[in-house]
Amino acid sequence: MLKGIAASSGIALAKVYKLQQPVLDITKKEASDNEVERLEEAFAKTIAEIEAIKERAALNLSAEEVAIFDAHLMMANDPEIKDQIISMINDEKVNAEYAALTVSNATISMFESMDNDYFKERAADVKDVMFRLQCNLVGAIIPDLTAINEEVVIVAEDLTPSDTAQLNKNYTLGFATEIGGRTSHSAIMARSLEIPAVVGCKGILETAKHGDFMILDAIEGAVYLNPSDELIEEFKEKAEAFKAEKEALKVLINEKSVSLDGHEVELAGNIGTPKDVAGVIENGGDGVGLYRTEFLYMDSENDFPDEEAQFIAYKEVLEAMEGKKVVIRTLDIGGDKKLNYFEFPEEMNPFLGYRAVRFCLDRTDIFRTQLRALIRASAYGSLCIMFPMIATLGEFRAAKKIFDEEKEKLVNEGVKIGDNIEVGIMVEIPAAAVMADRFAKEVDFFSIGTNDLIQYSMAADRMSEQVSYLYQPLNPAILRLIKMAIDGAHKEGKWCGMCGEMAGDALAAPILLGLGLDEFSMSATSILNTRKIIRSLKKSDMEELAKQALSLDTAEEVEELVKNVLK
Ligand code: PEP
Ligand code: MG
Repeated sequence: MLKGIAASSGIALAKVYKLQQPVLDITKKEASDNEVERLEEAFAKTIAEIEAIKERAALNLSAEEVAIFDAHLMMANDPEIKDQIISMINDEKVNAEYAALTVSNATISMFESMDNDYFKERAADVKDVMFRLQCNLVGAIIPDLTAINEEVVIVAEDLTPSDTAQLNKNYTLGFATEIGGRTSHSAIMARSLEIPAVVGCKGILETAKHGDFMILDAIEGAVYLNPSDELIEEFKEKAEAFKAEKEALKVLINEKSVSLDGHEVELAGNIGTPKDVAGVIENGGDGVGLYRTEFLYMDSENDFPDEEAQFIAYKEVLEAMEGKKVVIRTLDIGGDKKLNYFEFPEEMNPFLGYRAVRFCLDRTDIFRTQLRALIRASAYGSLCIMFPMIATLGEFRAAKKIFDEEKEKLVNEGVKIGDNIEVGIMVEIPAAAVMADRFAKEVDFFSIGTNDLIQYSMAADRMSEQVSYLYQPLNPAILRLIKMAIDGAHKEGKWCGMCGEMAGDALAAPILLGLGLDEFSMSATSILNTRKIIRSLKKSDMEELAKQALSLDTAEEVEELVKNVLK
């Protein structure tokens, strides 16, 4: 048994599908008689594979994403590259894979050294296509997620957003990754896709083999390889019980999130793409408390998404929520969130570096485009905009000023906009929590981002499993910062939400209710369970509980206290 972090609840039993890129060891050899013939065959196979991937991808992905494969096909069909490889085989009498590698490296360097961004980006396509060609020459297999046609649990180092976008939920019953924590983006994606996941499972890549049978216990955070029949039976029963429990919660879909003594809170859902809204509605969400717009930017292949593409996405979400509140976060890029078409500066600590609102205040052209799209979309629902990673009042004021300018321009252009756009900040840097009373005078609302607030308060990288023990939402230090934010907001008559993972944590809910949190925004799948908890508690009792929790010394003591109450 291997231990990891239960990142997306559930149980899966299936064969292991190991997602690992082959490592090629290509050396120079003397050409045999049929090198050109081998090369022709490998090209034909490469083209056929890309065509097949494109066809399958078209079933799940957007037209824009599918277009990448058109670019790959063009490259694989380009006679110039093939002719260069054939010339090298004939002139230098070397093996086809060596010639392919050499020509590929030269072509990649040529594209990379170009001044034109469009051509620079083509280097990644050449790399991709030529790697497939070399694999076909040496008989190595590149895993293709879209080709999975039986039930599997995916095992990988980590999953990128584009890997997760290719997952077919009918066959992918779960995944286990070597790295990552509860708040890494693959974990967040797993929750929005409702796929059980165990992350930070050290040793899984070395231990699990393709085709092994696996029990993925994403309730406890454990993985069993080739288990006994008894264990399989035991977990089949647990999986059934889990499903039944989920079913039973459905009676709460249309109920209010109200405590026994009549205090109502809002339970909203976190989304990454407009498609995720369906999950929020199905799970009875009172709104969207966090739309992470960076996925729109990360899914875009060649450039920052333009105003129109953004407007369409934001409008889709606002319309789907039919007037319920939608909180959209402006671009939170940098740290672990990279873009294909933009190179961030090399930094020692990217999580502490040039990212989120810091980037937006520097690249105001990109920021203004997003704000215009948001303001235009505001006409279609109830929009709140929030800025991520705000550390100082100066940053908020600068961002708000740009918002006001763009709003005024649009009004002068005669564009219809919503009449009550709220503008707030994420409280995810300790400095903002400490200064909450001052911020509250100027913002419309707060949303506490505990994933980062904990990371920065404890100085513990949220991606590192070695220090994941420091991810302590219930640590009194964190609770005090949360109290500062909530009290600060309320003193000025503003509302305070929370959109970090803590908002959906069953053990945190009683304390957050007691501290007076107004809105809890979480993975859609946690909404109904949180509603059940809120409906079983008295706010006045929880106020007492919160007071007690704040006076304790450690997270363990707080946990003990809450567990006793929930009993
Ligand atoms: C957070 O930091 O708590 C948060 C919600 O934002 P993200 O997880 O996207 O950094
Ligand atoms: Mg954050």
